[in-house]
Amino acid sequence: MELGVGLIGTGFMGKAHALAYRNVRAVMGDVPEVRLVALADTPPDKAVAMAAQFGFARGTGDWRSVVEDPGVQVVSITTPNGMHAEMACAALAAGKHVWCEKPMALTLPDARAMAAAAGGRKTQLGYNYIHNPAFMHACRLVAAGEIGQVVQLRGWVDEDYQADPDLPWTWRARIAEAGLGALGDIGCHLISLLTALAGPLDSVLGEIETIHTTRPLPDGSGHGAVENEDVANALLTFASGVKGSFTASRSAWGRKSRLGFEVHGTKGMIVFDQERMNELQLYVNRGPKAVQGFTTILTSPEHPPYGAFCPAPGHQLGFNDQKVIELAGFLRAIRDDARPPVDFAAGLEIEKAIHAIARSSREGRRVRLAEM
Ligand code: NAD
Repeated sequence: MELGVGLIGTGFMGKAHALAYRNVRAVMGDVPEVRLVALADTPPDKAVAMAAQFGFARGTGDWRSVVEDPGVQVVSITTPNGMHAEMACAALAAGKHVWCEKPMALTLPDARAMAAAAGGRKTQLGYNYIHNPAFMHACRLVAAGEIGQVVQLRGWVDEDYQADPDLPWTWRARIAEAGLGALGDIGCHLISLLTALAGPLDSVLGEIETIHTTRPLPDGSGHGAVENEDVANALLTFASGVKGSFTASRSAWGRKSRLGFEVHGTKGMIVFDQERMNELQLYVNRGPKAVQGFTTILTSPEHPPYGAFCPAPGHQLGFNDQKVIELAGFLRAIRDDARPPVDFAAGLEIEKAIHAIARSSREGRRVRLAEM
């Protein structure tokens, strides 16, 4: 099987997708071959230059010509959030499989429309952190009962890209263009990890806050309002009855990609921090108390698919390697007619969770996901 690829957007995530397409077969071996057919960005000359850089056969300023190209079977969407719904629905209508960046869309109705449009095509959302071998090992340890029965889950995601009060106002501060703030940018990643560990959420009690309520306009003419949240906190109840906590901030000085959690069980606990993405801390209540303590587990070929990248333990994978693993799963799902881990239907549940936290804050009450 050979799959033709179309890529829309060539920024941070566009490059991550392009690198994944270029490397996935060399790393994994067992996935279908991909052919880099067409890439879109604006303006058109940028698209042509990026097509040459990434190794795509052609570059165009017209994304519709990519989704309609008969040589394309898989479309990657890596454009700003407000464009995902229109582009994904058009690609699905043209019969393509779609790998789209998170969050799904600006609004829940748009996300719902994307899930409904999927039909028989394969879809996947860019929840790369669930594909980290260290995180997958944590999931296996929990499922195997290594820390006993899960009793509490505490998650956090902190970055400092909006910590500076003097940063100029941009479209990212407008709900109509950006949608949710910290919840949509990074909070959805945390929900993807917590639900992979503990199963679906039942309800949330949220509180959101904008720390920097105005920002200087770039033309120096005054200040513009920041409409979406810098910080979100929530108490979580999972369908299993397990309770947890959630905190997300885009205004946390010093934190760059501090996505992590502690999962507490009746026999032990696990700590994970994406800033140290190649390790887990495991504590198990076993043996004499005098020698009990946290074990640092460095990822190695014992933690698949680390060994597909590197035969030596502890030599460490990086952010872009997670995208290769994510893509490999998607290509295998297309080949095997299987369901990718976070397709649009599963992604809709993550969207419901982040929008439920915002709604809970607005309405001052606990919100069940079933209401969303
Ligand atoms: P970016 O600004 O770096 O890139 C966006 C790209 O889209 C640019 O190349 C831009 O020129 C292009 N674009 C804009 N309008 C277009 C159009 N009409 N046609 C074609 N191309 C167009 O943004 P980014 O940081 O890559 O974010 C893109 C998406 O990826 C967002 O949804 C974001 O939330 C998501 N993201 C995901 C992760 C992750 O860890 N999975 C990390 C960062 C961003």
